[in-house]
Amino acid sequence: MSEERPRSRAGTAARLRELLDTEGAAVEENVSTFNAGRYRRYAEMDATEEYREEARRIKEEAIERLPELVEALTEQVEENGGTVYLADDAADAREYVRKVAADRDAESVVKSKTMTSEEVHLNAGLEADGIDVTETDLAEFVLQLAEEEPSHIVAPAIHKSRSEIAALFSRTFDLDEPLETPEELTRFARERLLERVTEADIGITGANFLTADTGTLALVTNEGNARKCAVTPDTHVAIAGVEKIVPSMADLAPFLELIGPAGAGQDITAYVSLLTPPVETPAIDFEAPGTAGFGDPDDREFHLVLLDNGRTAMREDDDLRETLYCVRCGACANSCANFQQVGGHAFGGETYSGGIATGWEAGIGGPEAAAEFNDLCTGCSRCVDACPVKIDIPWINTVVRDRLNRGEEPGRFDFLVEGLTPDAEPAGLDLGKRLFGNFGTLAKWGSRTAPVANALAASSVARAALERVAGVDRRRDLPRFDPEPLTEWFRSRPDAGPADPTREAVLYPDVYTNYVATGRGKAAVRTLEALGVDVTVPNVGASGRAPLSQGMVATATDRAETVADALSPEIEAGRDVVVVEPSDLALFRREYGKLLDDDRAEMISEHSYELFEYVFGLLEKGADPDALGSPADGDAEVAYHSHCQQRTLDLEAGTVSVLETCGYDVETSDVECCGMAGSFGYKSDYYELSMAVGERLESQFTEPETEGRRVVASGVSCVEQLDSLLERPASHPVHLVDPGGGTDP
Ligand code: SF4
Repeated sequence: MSEERPRSRAGTAARLRELLDTEGAAVEENVSTFNAGRYRRYAEMDATEEYREEARRIKEEAIERLPELVEALTEQVEENGGTVYLADDAADAREYVRKVAADRDAESVVKSKTMTSEEVHLNAGLEADGIDVTETDLAEFVLQLAEEEPSHIVAPAIHKSRSEIAALFSRTFDLDEPLETPEELTRFARERLLERVTEADIGITGANFLTADTGTLALVTNEGNARKCAVTPDTHVAIAGVEKIVPSMADLAPFLELIGPAGAGQDITAYVSLLTPPVETPAIDFEAPGTAGFGDPDDREFHLVLLDNGRTAMREDDDLRETLYCVRCGACANSCANFQQVGGHAFGGETYSGGIATGWEAGIGGPEAAAEFNDLCTGCSRCVDACPVKIDIPWINTVVRDRLNRGEEPGRFDFLVEGLTPDAEPAGLDLGKRLFGNFGTLAKWGSRTAPVANALAASSVARAALERVAGVDRRRDLPRFDPEPLTEWFRSRPDAGPADPTREAVLYPDVYTNYVATGRGKAAVRTLEALGVDVTVPNVGASGRAPLSQGMVATATDRAETVADALSPEIEAGRDVVVVEPSDLALFRREYGKLLDDDRAEMISEHSYELFEYVFGLLEKGADPDALGSPADGDAEVAYHSHCQQRTLDLEAGTVSVLETCGYDVETSDVECCGMAGSFGYKSDYYELSMAVGERLESQFTEPETEGRRVVASGVSCVEQLDSLLERPASHPVHLVDPGGGTDP
């Protein structure tokens, strides 16, 4: 990208604010529409999960067999009459295409949309040789005229409104009459582009997929321009990353089923072209006198440029390898709450944008290439549900964040900070990250010194210092620590368990439930005991979620080991593990598989349950719902926001069901994330973005149907965010079913 990108935190924050104002509305409207379409199509399709599983399996196999598939594809394309060039890097690919153009004395080139050509800066290379390059994808054409960079990998001009495009056309083409409707704009562009296609010496395309058994290119578009570029000029150059190869034609099936629904909520993309070039039909000679004639079929040339550019190294990198499964559908961008507000001009790098951009940019250019935008991934995990090949995008973002942390140069006094923090991270780590990553330790000390710590947290002088030194935004309320942790409350209370328990469970005291929002922990204990569960609340330690969110993987691993040491004997003794905070449950079920040995990770994953998932299960097995709390007269209407991780684990329905069983009338929000996302919304660089994300939730809970409803949310940070967004308080839903009627925060 030619666009100047900010290199400092203050610069990043200013850029985000600018984009929120200038491009945010158009981006939000468009990607939210795509995202809603993806939900609809995934739900309508008969076999979405089967297709996703199959697509994943094919990609895993293809990347495993990549060297063999490159060889097979090369043989097949050559047998078909084409030429294959394996380019080591961007410059190599660019030079090869320039040479093809020079050999053909080419003066003009038409291109269909190809991210790979942008990755290698192909246009700049050809234009330097005096070749006229025309983008024929409508959105790319708009950006070429506007001299702007793409803001989305599938819909590159998503940040521009129709009126901006109309003004651009009027200005560029000096039109007497302004074009107004989308149809008028499209027809106008189409006529100009058709002229360019008929005049071009070379057509350049990408490839969504390449089949090794036949040498076929699968091109998936909505405008039909790719097939025009491929077959109208007599020379066709296709440029594609090596990861686009799949073993056979039959393997295309699940991808063609998924790519339209995933990317834009379409039933299927408007054009699916399967070409096995060089095609046998002769090119049309548009300059022949009279009606068009035909050229000589033997003049057809086809060059396939297979680009490596770091992909072989990514294949050998256990953490980045999954990036190569990406089919570039854009669903991870569309489902991302932060992307929905600022688009790819902030949430993206040199070429790629959205959730998976970190994997691509870091794989191609090293972690530094993702440094500016990597922090915009909050790890909410909504993209994991959206991705048609089930890539663990948050994990890729976490690993790259860890590599960036480790690349930081130590500051002068970092050795002092490092000696004082109980983490496994190197000197040089950003102080704010270290602070948020060590929240477990901070909370423990905050609870022990509660009156002083809470007074300090409320002091404007301390808040100003915290903002300056660690980037904690002073507009946010800080957590108030409870002097009596949940574990102590549990230990010191009279024995109140059920006389004849049906199950035994450990209530996992996550950091917030133990030291800050102890009320929800007490309510959870009472709820479980009322349903016949013998509960214990041992001192287990922090889960590792806080350090992992900052990319502190070694520290998170230490925490996971401690938790596993504490929980394993409990599980072996037959106790279930019940988790109040959804992000901790998600950690147990997903990321512990990366942090712990397989046996321990599996044991914790299989025996851990989210609180309402567990209550739902108890009620299903015959526990008496009358033992739980129920609404007071006139207080049954509830507005419920599920947590992002909870939705990814498909647990929202359990909470709604329990609340309804207890007599509540529940309206749920459908926003992907509240915007707070753990510590993200506390950071001064991201405060405005966090609040902008929250606006959608705010508007859903202030509509006439919801404005009088009691507000509940499963995640502690969602409750914090709702407290800032609304004029009425929010709390955890366990307070609604607590037989003790507890309403503590
Ligand atoms: S990571 Fe998945 S969702 Fe994102 S662009 Fe790639 S295939 Fe699509």
